[in-house]
Amino acid sequence: MPVPGIPVLDNLYPATMDMWPSEAKEFNRVWPFYENLKQGRLTTTRCKNCGHIAFPPRVICPECYSEDLEYTDLPTRVKVIAFSEETKGVPLGFEAPLIHAFIDMGPGSPVKKMLSRVVNCPVGKLKVGDELRLAVFEVPAMPVEKGRQGTIMVDRVFFAFEPVDQ
Ligand SMILES: [Zn+2]
Repeated sequence: MPVPGIPVLDNLYPATMDMWPSEAKEFNRVWPFYENLKQGRLTTTRCKNCGHIAFPPRVICPECYSEDLEYTDLPTRVKVIAFSEETKGVPLGFEAPLIHAFIDMGPGSPVKKMLSRVVNCPVGKLKVGDELRLAVFEVPAMPVEKGRQGTIMVDRVFFAFEPVDQ
């Protein structure tokens, strides 16, 4: 099931309607997070100085202010603690149902809980305690100025979770 992105404006880039992060290296200091996502890995930053792991990924440790960070993997299989299903009036660029879940990342995870979108799931199917897995999906590419190369379109991805049993 495709996941919709920016509202349809063929061959135009509607910057003001772009709800996805500018993931390119040129615009985003946490770009490795998105490169890892493209490989199916959910990661975040770990401070090499004090060991603190923060999510979402940071460029400076919120505990000790060190900039010496590295990326570490988070679980890609999680469990539903609570969820909501919007079936009407979802924001522009999204299709109903729009499902969000508060998820348990598991006992071994440095990040214990997270709020995430759930995709590839019909209304009424999700239950508390269900197992979900990471779902990385493409979102519309964005233009990046590359000097003499001109403007190139840079692929982007984002993540959600989806039911394990489909
Ligand atoms: Zn630190």
